[in-house]
Amino acid sequence: MADASVETESQSQWFIDGLEPEEILDRFTYRRFSYGKVRMISGIDKVPKPSAIRLSGGRTSSLGPVLGRLPNELLHMVMHWLDYKSLFAVARASLLGKALVESLPVYQELLTYAPEVIAALSRLNILGAHPAALIREALRTEKCAACRSYGPYLFLPTCHRCCLECLSSYSPLRVITAETAKKYFVLGAKDLQKIPVIHTIPGQMDASGKKRPSSVKLFSLAAVKELALSLHGSTGGIARAAYRAYGEKKPAFLRGTFYWKTPVGRDISTRFSHRACYWRKATERYRWYCLVAMPFPSMKVPGVVERGLFCKCCYSLMLGISPRERLRLPYTGNTIFTVRNKADTLEHIKECRSREMLAQNGAGMVEPRSP
Ligand SMILES: [Zn+2]
Ligand SMILES: [Zn+2]
Repeated sequence: MADASVETESQSQWFIDGLEPEEILDRFTYRRFSYGKVRMISGIDKVPKPSAIRLSGGRTSSLGPVLGRLPNELLHMVMHWLDYKSLFAVARASLLGKALVESLPVYQELLTYAPEVIAALSRLNILGAHPAALIREALRTEKCAACRSYGPYLFLPTCHRCCLECLSSYSPLRVITAETAKKYFVLGAKDLQKIPVIHTIPGQMDASGKKRPSSVKLFSLAAVKELALSLHGSTGGIARAAYRAYGEKKPAFLRGTFYWKTPVGRDISTRFSHRACYWRKATERYRWYCLVAMPFPSMKVPGVVERGLFCKCCYSLMLGISPRERLRLPYTGNTIFTVRNKADTLEHIKECRSREMLAQNGAGMVEPRSP
């Protein structure tokens, strides 16, 4: 009799009848931003003060006689498309500039909801690489720019929102070293000076779990390809340059074909499913992505911040059984890595097959380990 009551209790912990949505989310979800050894940029909370931003040579440090006379509305429209480095410079230049910048939605929203992104862009040396409007656009979407599932990360070199799977396997969300860029795109060191160089933050771990004590210089693969296109004319032109440099059968030429195919521009949506991405991951080594990406909240509805949720039922089921048993499950095990917004999570939990199976077995809840 005692056994039966224990069983009932552990079974009932999986029931959601009568629970409020917030209670369901509280009990059955968790957040995570690291996977084993893989950890994105974190712990950077020091937002650079406008006075700490150095102006690069030749840039004016005041609003100037022309801009100063423009109406505020027009100034707002112009400043929307400035990068954060320039916005900081304007804010530093005069009281009027400071008031103007601080009243910009692009400035207010990011500083309120994701100040660590500005800090990280500054540490990576690319604070001046993106218009503020572009980062705000990423804040206002919640879907991965590549696969359209929920994307809890921001790929800082291009400011695309993305999911872990695409980040770790899809070439537009990739960074490469100067050596790789020069070799596969037939570029010189001088050519590379035309695109932003990313200085990784010392002490962060790369995707192989290796701590990088010193900074690594990296380039966005998409930016390198765009540069190569401007120099060699077309993808065929890049291939011909590589052919002249290496000959058709050399590994450097053959491997280059992967790099040359990288889609460039803002639209990087892909028809590839994650399964295809996993396969490609096995064939291509992505080492640097966690040094240039970070968790990024989404605010599709103004004022409503989402950070992505995982299902604790799917986690408990996967962690509570052996790998052999996992293979026998009637559905794929990838659900433990699926991250969703609150509404989709609620829908998922209501129909979660893991929760049903756990309730039938009376199995206990496995608490995810914090990183
Ligand atoms: Zn994706
Ligand atoms: Zn689930």
